[in-house]
Amino acid sequence: MSAPNSNYDPVEVTALHADEVEQFRDAALEAISAATDLDQLRVVRTAHAGDRSPLALANREIGALPPQAKAEAGRRVGQARAAITAALQQREVELLAERDARILVDETVDVTLPWDRLPRGARHPLTTLQERIADVFVAMGYEVAEGPEVEAEWLNFDALNLDPDHPARTMQDTFWVESPESGVVLRTQTSPVQIRAMLTREPPIYIVCPGRTFRTDDLDATHTPVFHQVEGLVVDEGITMAHLKGTLDAFVGAMFGAGITSRIRPAYFPFTEPSAEVDLQCFVCGGASVGDPDNPCRTCNSEGWIEWGGCGVVNPRVLVACGIDPDRYSGFAFGIGIERTLMFRHDVRDMRDMVEGDVRFTLPFGTEI
Ligand SMILES: [Zn+2]
Repeated sequence: MSAPNSNYDPVEVTALHADEVEQFRDAALEAISAATDLDQLRVVRTAHAGDRSPLALANREIGALPPQAKAEAGRRVGQARAAITAALQQREVELLAERDARILVDETVDVTLPWDRLPRGARHPLTTLQERIADVFVAMGYEVAEGPEVEAEWLNFDALNLDPDHPARTMQDTFWVESPESGVVLRTQTSPVQIRAMLTREPPIYIVCPGRTFRTDDLDATHTPVFHQVEGLVVDEGITMAHLKGTLDAFVGAMFGAGITSRIRPAYFPFTEPSAEVDLQCFVCGGASVGDPDNPCRTCNSEGWIEWGGCGVVNPRVLVACGIDPDRYSGFAFGIGIERTLMFRHDVRDMRDMVEGDVRFTLPFGTEI
């Protein structure tokens, strides 16, 4: 602020001259009307109505005027500033309205445009079936157990009572990691998960183990080197073959419809004794095609039953290998192929369709989540 102006000379305070004040006001009004958006108006406001604007500075000079000139100068500057404030307000209202109108146009969504035709992704039917199977057993009180796909040879074979000269241990069936001497394999079955469970849990054990398994098969309509199994294991006091049969029937009913049952036929597996093959009652003809050449059934080849998996009472030697007292506990185990189950449930003829990733195969299964 200037020092008190004792020798009043109007020329010394040019900023307060009527024409100067008018010039400041007109320049401000021109700049305000020239502002085309809110950002520009903000700059104009600072320049013409801010603390350092010409009129704000002129206003400070009023105090230096002699009393008789103060009123006149104050009125003049005040009117000019009021005019600028009013013009700013009016322009702001106009620009806000313009901006809102522009947003409405720019951000318009045309609801008649075609929607994104990229199909939504979905999980593979093998995955969803695997989880559906796990759900069936979880509902019966089982736990889902998992294990590594790269497995110790001992857990994959020895602990399951597969002798070193067992055919399944030859190079034809097993993917060895590094060399056969390494003792590390890609698991050929989900059974090592059972061994891991028996080694780490105390009976009673009720587990179901879905997972990926590997064998050196060529890919064809009924074989794939990477496939999926689900394995069930129960170890408890007083478990018998009858519990196994009842469990399999409940499983079959949940997979293929109420009323469809299972059949077990004598078989041999090193890790169960006695062992059995599990057959599935034909869910298409229900066995009616047997002995009826006029109405053959393609699904079961008119045999009434379909081979599905293997099962048995856990071999006491396996229990001993896992530190479980076979005099107190007994158990059952079963294993089925998930690819095979998918083929039956959905009439898939060629296993290659399941691994080739063609959406024309997976699409009809929908987007089950
Ligand atoms: Zn049939």
